[in-house]
Amino acid sequence: MLQDKDRVFLNLYGLEDWRLDGARKRGIWSNTKDLVALGRDKIIEEIKESELRGRGGAGFPAGLKWSFMPKENDGRPHYLVVNADESEPGSCKDREIMRNDPHMLLEGCVIAGFAMGAHKAYIYIRGEYWLPTQRLEAAIAEAREAGLLGPDACGSGWAFDIEVSRGAGAYICGEETALLESLEGKKGQPRLKPPFPAAVGVWGCPTTVTNVETVAVSPTILRRGAAWWKGLGRPKNTGTKIFSISGHVNRPCNVEEEMGIPLRELIDKHAGGVRGGWDNLQAVIPGGSSVPCLPKTICDDVLMDFDSLREAQSGLGTAAVIVIDQSADIVEAIQRFSHFYMHESCGQCTPCREGTGWMYRVMSRMMKGQAEVEEIDTLLDVTKQVEGHTICALGDAAAWPIQGLIRHFRPELERRIAEYKAGRTPVAAE
Ligand code: NAD
Ligand code: SF4
Repeated sequence: MLQDKDRVFLNLYGLEDWRLDGARKRGIWSNTKDLVALGRDKIIEEIKESELRGRGGAGFPAGLKWSFMPKENDGRPHYLVVNADESEPGSCKDREIMRNDPHMLLEGCVIAGFAMGAHKAYIYIRGEYWLPTQRLEAAIAEAREAGLLGPDACGSGWAFDIEVSRGAGAYICGEETALLESLEGKKGQPRLKPPFPAAVGVWGCPTTVTNVETVAVSPTILRRGAAWWKGLGRPKNTGTKIFSISGHVNRPCNVEEEMGIPLRELIDKHAGGVRGGWDNLQAVIPGGSSVPCLPKTICDDVLMDFDSLREAQSGLGTAAVIVIDQSADIVEAIQRFSHFYMHESCGQCTPCREGTGWMYRVMSRMMKGQAEVEEIDTLLDVTKQVEGHTICALGDAAAWPIQGLIRHFRPELERRIAEYKAGRTPVAAE
């Protein structure tokens, strides 16, 4: 369990002042000039050494990603783009950082931006995040006023400024290249990769798109050192992480914990346990709607980090832990996700545009048992035709929850089909 001395997010619950004075008391902006003075290479080296992995869902090594930005100057400006379009169902951690400690993110932008050779950062924020937007804008104004942003940011000699750009409610704009299109004022549709944004990003310029939490923790890693960060969590799954715990728990919450904490300990210690007790647990979706669910048997001892959850055939994703007890209809829950992905598909590639609708319609029949048993394998086959065959990860995200359902709850699908064939209306198994 994370000790208080290792906590990074000191105002996660908004109990203290979020403004500049409060932020300074928590050590934010304390020696930013010295951190910049470390130089681009040293900052990136330290972030690489810390083994920090991106907190937006994919877990790509952060230092490596930052290092992709060109070193030589070809005349194009560099940009840092913070992905604050937090729209993954179940995830609400970035919201808490931005509304309760916006200066943490701003200081992180100065450090990350400098390391990438950028003089400007855009924070692309989910349109529905009204209060976090207001606080970010107020914090930016305070930082400019105090000389922390501007032509000589923090007295470092480096010009740096930040602009907030609001999304308009499309889930797909959280995909980094769709986000860049939207930032440019176009319809938010993912681009083909490669080229990756570091080569061709916003307005054709070198850009790194990175998650709020990743940027916000980076000054603390530099202050306390990569060795300290690596001492938390597990190898290749280092540091602390904010988990959003929701669903059938006694106390839904966001909590900062050590990577690799057992799922059961996380739920019991911080969320007051599963409603009705651990034995009442049916399944957990450990990383937001895009990752497969896990049945109770696996939840009993799985660890919460990228590699452990991948081994368990799921994923840490955004670390949004959705707890499902025995009272819930697990098939209906996954069918609802299918509807979501069908609705949010941008439609530009055929497997996703056609596949998400097809999967939703079959899931709707499966929910009522109105299917043939053989169709379970047909459905599984279609998810595999979609997975890995689309421009962006939304196709995978639509396929994986269904794959998880079939992997772990096939008997429940078969039971419903048998009930329906016997002339009864299937209801969720309790
Ligand atoms: P990805 O693995 O394609 O990429 C991750 C990051 O690494 C990207 O920034 C990408 O540009 C970079 N990258 C990967 N390979 C690279 C290479 N060879 N060269 C240069 N850069 C490279 O994943 P993704 O599509 O960015 O993210 C998918 C994840 O997003 C899902 O797993 C899901 O958990 C998560 N997600 C999060 C939210 C949210 O609200 N935060 C919403 C939906 C999905
Ligand atoms: Fe659009 Fe879906 Fe293709 Fe992504 S996978 S580009 S959301 S159609």
